[in-house]
Amino acid sequence: MNRLAATLAAILGVGAMVGACNGEPNEAGADKAARLSNTSVETADDIPRDGYVAAQESSASLNSLGEAFVKLALSVGEHVPAFVDAYHGPAEWADAAKTEKRTLEELEVEAQGLLISIRRTNAGGASVRGDMLEKQIRAALTRIQMAQGKRFSFDEETRLLYDAVAPQYDLAEFDAALAEIDALLPGEGSLSDRVDAFRNSLAVPEDKLQAVFDAAIAECRKRTLAHYELPETENFRLEFVTDKPWSGYNWYQGDYESLIQVNTDFPIIIDRAVDLGCHEGYPGHHTWNAFIERDLLEDKGWIEYSVYPLFSPMSVTAEGSANYGIELAFPGNEKIAFERDVLFPLAGLDPDKASTLERLNDLRRKLSHSRNHIAREYLDGRISRETAIEMSVKYRLESRERAEQGVRFIDTYRGYVLNYNLGRDLVEGFVERQAELNGGDRWAAFETLLTTPLSASEIAQASTSSGGADE
Ligand SMILES: [Zn+2]
Repeated sequence: MNRLAATLAAILGVGAMVGACNGEPNEAGADKAARLSNTSVETADDIPRDGYVAAQESSASLNSLGEAFVKLALSVGEHVPAFVDAYHGPAEWADAAKTEKRTLEELEVEAQGLLISIRRTNAGGASVRGDMLEKQIRAALTRIQMAQGKRFSFDEETRLLYDAVAPQYDLAEFDAALAEIDALLPGEGSLSDRVDAFRNSLAVPEDKLQAVFDAAIAECRKRTLAHYELPETENFRLEFVTDKPWSGYNWYQGDYESLIQVNTDFPIIIDRAVDLGCHEGYPGHHTWNAFIERDLLEDKGWIEYSVYPLFSPMSVTAEGSANYGIELAFPGNEKIAFERDVLFPLAGLDPDKASTLERLNDLRRKLSHSRNHIAREYLDGRISRETAIEMSVKYRLESRERAEQGVRFIDTYRGYVLNYNLGRDLVEGFVERQAELNGGDRWAAFETLLTTPLSASEIAQASTSSGGADE
């Protein structure tokens, strides 16, 4: 049974465990010897794999490893505040993390031990659950080491945290889209100024924000509920906030409830309402979190899903599905039609501008990966902060102020940026391929993705598969 067959078998519930012996590349003897002789563990990848761990290492069950991982993540959160994005497990575990306040050195040792144990328990990539837990622990260990001052290159960091590496880009590949946008919005001044001015002409007046967001989220929810049965008590609260490095955020509260915050530091352009409604709410983060709580935590009892560590391989699915979810809920020109016919009038905006906005957004999407390039060059120290801001103005077509906010985001969240664009592409590839195999139901394929813990490399593999037949 190949890896995808195993994955799909697990998804279908016809045996989550498959035989060992797949995927893991064989290690040359010399490398193995070098690794064995290296007594000090350097990075997550230096932790021995199955076959050469010390014989006395006992294998622990996934349940106990899952519990240990949750406690580890909560303790990491005491040092790295953004680490724990959501937690809805036992309150005494969170209290214990606070009172114990274990040091980073202690947590590093703990994480290394857990990684050895999971690699033994999940030898050969035995289960979908074990695979993700291993990558979760690897990411936690990496983040602990970063908090201790260890430096990783951008690519190494994203590989260890998210199981994903952004492609290399030639900036010239973005020039065609820039030229088309230039033709779409001719006039005086720089292209980013013209784009910014056009977009700002479609800002939602402050006193209309609530009504516009209520309408947008209601439509996103309606379209999602047409395909999914969400827990009856699912619910969210919407808040408008200021002075944040992000434009919107979903703080999942547990018990199928979310707090969705929208940052009003900058004018909210009309297209953000549906974007955020889908991304943060339906079928994005709120839906994903509710599915995970219901299907993985409640039904399967996989305790590690009581915590969502932000700097982890789960974020590829989180951000990728949230962004792809916009097109899933509003395929083709349905989004602009809804905005033009419902939201523009609610906000008192000129609906004649809708078609230009749609064309502009199609072209801007082709520039989305430029953010990875800028973040990589900046965080690897090849360009200054000022250059990163200037490049953001040019390639992301933002005002200086928005570009500064964007670089502040990179300062805070670093390689996380690739989850939005690369993650989105991965999710699209998965959904398109799995829908081809299931008779065209993209919502069903999307639900499979939301309820199956697959890391980026596994999602990519499933996107190019022949459908899970045995080799
Ligand atoms: Zn998000």
